[in-house]
Amino acid sequence: MTSARTEITLSVVIPMYNEEEALPALVARLRPALDGIGCTYEVVAVDDGSKDKTAAVLQDFRADWAELRVVKLRRNSGHQAALTAGLHSSVGAYVASIDADLQDPPEKIAEMLELAQRNGLDIVYGVRNDRSTDTGFKRRTAGLYYGLMRRLVGKQMPSQAGDFRLLSREAVEALKALPDQQQVYRLLVPWLGFPSGEVYYQREERVAGETKYPLSKMIRLAVDSITGFSAAPLRIATWLGVTSFFACLALLVFTVVAYVSGHTVPGWTSLFVAMLFIGAVQLICVGLLGEYIGRIYTAVQKRPTYFIGYDSAKDEPAASATVIAPRHESERAGV
Ligand code: UDP
Ligand code: MG
Repeated sequence: MTSARTEITLSVVIPMYNEEEALPALVARLRPALDGIGCTYEVVAVDDGSKDKTAAVLQDFRADWAELRVVKLRRNSGHQAALTAGLHSSVGAYVASIDADLQDPPEKIAEMLELAQRNGLDIVYGVRNDRSTDTGFKRRTAGLYYGLMRRLVGKQMPSQAGDFRLLSREAVEALKALPDQQQVYRLLVPWLGFPSGEVYYQREERVAGETKYPLSKMIRLAVDSITGFSAAPLRIATWLGVTSFFACLALLVFTVVAYVSGHTVPGWTSLFVAMLFIGAVQLICVGLLGEYIGRIYTAVQKRPTYFIGYDSAKDEPAASATVIAPRHESERAGV
């Protein structure tokens, strides 16, 4: 485990986008739950470029909750990028991540930490054993998504485990070392292969406000998940080429039969065969090229996934070092 960063036992990362309505309820439940554990902790609230009063509400809570740290992203970067910012900023020996809308019960964090410490686990997943509060559409799309992802990542990926989980510092450092651009943590974390455990809970209803995951963001997450773990879509072009090649062979037989039985005009057969054959071979080549270009494209796009505009732990002087500024320029000049 990385040294010197273990003064804080637990970091709790909470990505939030336009969550001003949910915040009072979140703080009211999260704070006693964390105080009750009895270890040193920090709460890393990542404001994902909210357009409502999330930032101001957070600052208000900070006034009498020293453990609350606010990391504000310059622009809305999406849930997974906000999680990245939180994981990268966190300093705890264990790092839990939880949504801001209380769909995941904060009281379970104590259970996760206890399980990890007792059994020496690096990952504890929060697994939803009841999604009855989600809409039918959400349940069906989630079922499809987890089924497909388990085929890509392998059986070590628990189904129905979202982004409510606990990671050890070692696991966080392993995630930080990955060069991935569009991280999908629910796939990356099981893929790391650390010893893991599960804690079961019932998914509750969003406490206030509306979902920040419209269909477009759900599709984005699914596309990032597939392209991050599989080159299968690129291979479709190759398989198209191979299929047309065999179709051409069948047509070749047809053209030869047509020629032998005299149902052609002279020259037609050779032209037709050559055109079909070259077309198929070209498709195969384009498919192969596409496969490599896709890989190069992902590798060269080394853009940061988020920009931190403000971090209360770094950008604010400690309370004891507060400088009382003169009220007016004239006072400073002694006039
Ligand atoms: N979220 C975020 N950035 C976004 C969208 C969502 O930080 O662009 C946060 C959101 O505030 C919440 C979490 O991600 O804390 C999960 O989002 P939400 O609860 O809306 O998703 P759902 O539970 O409906 O899938
Ligand atoms: Mg939610």
